[in-house]
Amino acid sequence: MSANLPDLAVRYALVLLEAPNSPLPLPYEIPEHLQEAVQFGVRVAVPLGRRRVVPGFVVGFCDRSPVPARTIRSVLTPEPLFDEAMWSLAQWVADRYLCTPQEALRCAIPPAALGRLRRRIRLQAEPLLAVLDDDLRRAVELVRRGASEGALRRAFRARGEEILRALREAGWVRHEPDAHLPEAPTERVLRLAVPPEQAQEVVERWRRRAPRRAGLLERLLRSGEVPRTGVRADLVRDLVRAGLVVEERRPLHRDPFPRTYQEVAAPVTLTPEQETALGAIREALRGRRHAVFLIFGVTGSGKTEVYLQAAEEAIRSGRQVLVLVPEISLTPQTVARFAARFGERVAVLHSRLGAVERLDAWRRIRDGTCTVVIGPRSAVFAPLRNLGLVVVDEEHEASYKQEEQVPRYDAREVALERARRAASPILLGSATPSVESYWKAQEGTYHLLTLPRRIQDRPLPTVRVVDMRTEQGVLSVTLLRAMRAHLEAGDQVLLYLNRRGYAAFLLCRDCGEVPRCRRCDVAFTYHLHSRTLRCHYCGRALRAPSRCSRCGGVRFRPFGPGTQRVEEEVRAHFPDLTVARADRDTMQRRGAHERLIADLQAGRIRVLVGTQIIAKGLDLPGVGLVGVVAADVALSLPDFRAAERTFQQLTQAAGRAGRGDRPGEVLIQTYRPDHPAIRAAAHHDYLAFFEAEIASRQVHRYPPYTSLVSVIVAGRTPLGAERAACAFAEAATRTTTAADDLASGRSTEDPEVLGPSPAPLHRLRGWYRWQVVVRSVEPDRARERVREALRACWGLPLRPPRGVRVVVDVDPVEML
Ligand code: ADP
Ligand code: ZN
Repeated sequence: MSANLPDLAVRYALVLLEAPNSPLPLPYEIPEHLQEAVQFGVRVAVPLGRRRVVPGFVVGFCDRSPVPARTIRSVLTPEPLFDEAMWSLAQWVADRYLCTPQEALRCAIPPAALGRLRRRIRLQAEPLLAVLDDDLRRAVELVRRGASEGALRRAFRARGEEILRALREAGWVRHEPDAHLPEAPTERVLRLAVPPEQAQEVVERWRRRAPRRAGLLERLLRSGEVPRTGVRADLVRDLVRAGLVVEERRPLHRDPFPRTYQEVAAPVTLTPEQETALGAIREALRGRRHAVFLIFGVTGSGKTEVYLQAAEEAIRSGRQVLVLVPEISLTPQTVARFAARFGERVAVLHSRLGAVERLDAWRRIRDGTCTVVIGPRSAVFAPLRNLGLVVVDEEHEASYKQEEQVPRYDAREVALERARRAASPILLGSATPSVESYWKAQEGTYHLLTLPRRIQDRPLPTVRVVDMRTEQGVLSVTLLRAMRAHLEAGDQVLLYLNRRGYAAFLLCRDCGEVPRCRRCDVAFTYHLHSRTLRCHYCGRALRAPSRCSRCGGVRFRPFGPGTQRVEEEVRAHFPDLTVARADRDTMQRRGAHERLIADLQAGRIRVLVGTQIIAKGLDLPGVGLVGVVAADVALSLPDFRAAERTFQQLTQAAGRAGRGDRPGEVLIQTYRPDHPAIRAAAHHDYLAFFEAEIASRQVHRYPPYTSLVSVIVAGRTPLGAERAACAFAEAATRTTTAADDLASGRSTEDPEVLGPSPAPLHRLRGWYRWQVVVRSVEPDRARERVREALRACWGLPLRPPRGVRVVVDVDPVEML
């Protein structure tokens, strides 16, 4: 970060308090002795109110203060934690995702850089020692010498609390934050304590008598030092006692990523399509021009090779490269190829990095030691100061959207903004681009680069759709027959299920009909306890029907078999085979994923039943058949992206079949064989899917034609939740009659307010959740409307009353 020393005229620093009760930075005077230390981005302690001293970040300077300013107390973290560009990006994130700048900044700062804040007590006023009793006088002396609260408690034992209280109440002491930085990670190593000749002599003497000791000495003679771990303790003790070996600590440098993948060294000759793509990217790189390229190509069409060569070009011109991948553990091959090509210069921001390792990587990126950063969503905030190229692989992936924590940012959007600010090209790559991105490419906002063929001309798998309306049970006769044939031929079989089967819906077993809200075109959520169907976009509620409106059938059933159930069925049909299951539950342990891949590769597993964990990134030549157990689960999510997700997941799952030398086979089980998403997936036809989907988005006013902001209002009690949600919806509607118009089918106003309606996961961990959606053709207008309504209801930053929680999600990706 730039050494932005305030010149002597600068008297005030603008400090953003860490606790987000003030979204605006406040001016504080910089005392003489801190003139040098108070730089942009450092963390300081400043007084607030009468007694408190709190931490904050320096986000600017000024030489005049509009209000009487107080003085910065100390510098807590001398290392700047962000630069002006990152602060500016954080403000953009705050504005875009309706969070505070503090929350946005938190994404950019590795927690270990802040260390733990210790609370220190400080003498505030000079008490008259003469009037104090002995204990108090001693306590004051201790505080003066820097004793901590804990030290005082220990010194006075039973009287500790009382003494502390007395000091505080008299106003003599005050708490202050005090940074406590973690040390760099170290490891213990062994070294020789004697000259090599002498060690050599000892080795000769001991070779027979004490072969293990001699062996260790020999290792030390060979390599200079040996890691302490793995060497037996008694051996070390003996050699240290004999004065031959010393034990030392030295900074740990761990290889960020195991380089298991060997890149073929020979430079490849690009295909004409790759050549064209790279040519266009190169031109933008050389012109230092921002441009968005959507690289559309099936798996194996050579996208990654284009990324790699574009990255080389950017590095050659002295700039840094940011590569985003959906999840490191799911894309080991992509990561490994970058690591293999760029070696030491790659920082892999793996989610399993320890806090200190993460800090270390962050520093190496900031200092420019690392020129390539590869990581998941959160890596978009890496402190690259010299960004020249951004790559977002599998750009359609939902995991780029943070949906669990504030800020609920979309890493793809943040990446676009970073690239724009850095005047850099950005590559969005996918075999199944998101509808939004492909639409922008059609509109001409993005440049479309198509890689239409697989490099190794392997045929695409044949896809068959199995009509479940005429089948019984979870596994159809057709699927069981195909499984048997493939297993007998020695193939492996993957059975794929959608993870997000938890939003219950109703399905007619005779015709496959799933009741949908006609107004919103999403499946109704089935509420079992009240036996009602609800649309969680508009709030419409109906009694669950007893007869299917399409075929008159009466065999309705709530839907969604789990992986465990399918695993049991498979075991029942194939008792002699090894069957494994891969889902959130079984994949949680460290190394579970690696073990599973190894078992699959070695052929120890014949049938794998899993969620989308198995639909991604695995390259398994032994898989001859992929069965999609229930395509309807994805299709019936109460989400306008249900069809898009279904198409993507089916395409991805199909990509797992037949990656060896034989063509593979895919069976899709569904009650809706005619659905456009399913038909398009069966024909490997992205464009057919896109045309159908974009038309439906336009008719039903969904993105990319509109922008949505979802607000979840949760309450501890059903009534409290509903009231708060209604109050918010009313505030958001106040200036519009959109809701009435929408209900009566008249023309709508913009922005419209949908809801409140019970969220699909209405009761979650003791909270009752309601949802309000604000929709507009102008993204800014939807956000502005929500901002106003939030401010009117709870103030900004949000301070809802006890028992109420508010979650704001701009451009939600999973609306559950
Ligand atoms: P994608 O990223 O689209 O899945 P890759 O870039 O991984 O495709 O390419 C698929 C395979 O083809 C990889 O093994 C890669 O090394 C190889 N490959 C890519 N481009 C070429 C090329 N022009 N000539 C030969 N092999 C190539
Ligand atoms: Zn509806």
